[in-house]
Amino acid sequence: PLILGIESSCDETGVGIVRGRELLANEVASSVDQHARWGGVVPEVASRAHLQAMVPALERALAKADVDLTEIDAIAVTAGPGLMGALVIGLASAKALAASLNKPLYGVNHLVGHVAVDILEHGPLDMPCGALLVSGGHTNLLKVDDLTSSITEVGTTIDDAAGEAYDKVARLLGLGYPGGPIVDKAAASGDPKAIAFPRGLTARHDLAKHRFDFSFSGLKTAVARWVETARLEGREVPIDDVCASFQEAVADVLTAKAVDMCDHYGLKQFVIGGGVAANSRLRTLLEERLAARGVALRRPRPGLCTDNGAMIAILGSEVVTAGLPPSASDIGADSGMPISKVLA
Ligand code: ATP
Ligand code: MG
Ligand code: FE
Repeated sequence: PLILGIESSCDETGVGIVRGRELLANEVASSVDQHARWGGVVPEVASRAHLQAMVPALERALAKADVDLTEIDAIAVTAGPGLMGALVIGLASAKALAASLNKPLYGVNHLVGHVAVDILEHGPLDMPCGALLVSGGHTNLLKVDDLTSSITEVGTTIDDAAGEAYDKVARLLGLGYPGGPIVDKAAASGDPKAIAFPRGLTARHDLAKHRFDFSFSGLKTAVARWVETARLEGREVPIDDVCASFQEAVADVLTAKAVDMCDHYGLKQFVIGGGVAANSRLRTLLEERLAARGVALRRPRPGLCTDNGAMIAILGSEVVTAGLPPSASDIGADSGMPISKVLA
């Protein structure tokens, strides 16, 4: 099927077009620059930016894919989770399109979109498949038995999300927003062994209760203390070493628990998704450790890891192909949509 996907859960306005599992267009307009001075996404600003960017993004995507709106078989749109005011802009646009074209509407889960997007690059996932979703708002280990109907959360963060930790560390180092790509770049010229930062929930007594869970707030505090101490003692802060050591701590614990999960459930394939899945160290360390266990790693290219419309379009395509019923024409946004719910 020819599917149009619309994404507007946070600060990216995305319109993607896929035919089956083939990517035809993926237009993304980000309002990230407008949020930078606040150090985080300002919901009202994001909503207004979606309103301005939606129609131009749609037009660019149609031109790029070289298809006419009337050829589209179905519209998929992010129904949640995300910022309420941002979600409703995408949802209203999708509803208007579906109604005027008389085509079915599918309100889908943004997080499942992050897991699904790799299908566009590397084909269908083998079931059961393990998944690590690491983004600005989420950090989850998932067991996927069926992408469109059976996803189980195996572990989650008990405090900050991985991307949130990146953003907070970048902020306390005065590096700008969003922190992930900046810290990743600085880390490239630093020593990952320079500072031994803590690995949350990996001690024996924590593993008993939180074997597959994560905690990043202690790590963030450890970085803050280390930097503060260096400044108080009048030492220059080695930004690159701090970034490299922080990044190593995050990648190490994410990877260790992913490998443990594959062992525990006997999984042979593992996929990553979400903005932090673009992280260079996470990608190489995971590849290394999973290969040693005979588990195949599926990693979407960095540009598909962060929010975009193609991930919503491919999930819509899988849902349509699976024969699931469309959403009601009056569906609302669900800002807290759980990952177990693929369709609204
Ligand atoms: P969610 O998907 O949970 O609703 P979101 O959509 O805001 O959250 P994404 O767009 O998936 O999140 O990811 C954004 C996050 O990814 C930010 O926290 C950003 O710092 C982080 N990020 C992006 N690139 C990298 C990178 N190379 N290394 C580490 N983190 C990264
Ligand atoms: Mg974003
Ligand atoms: Fe996201």
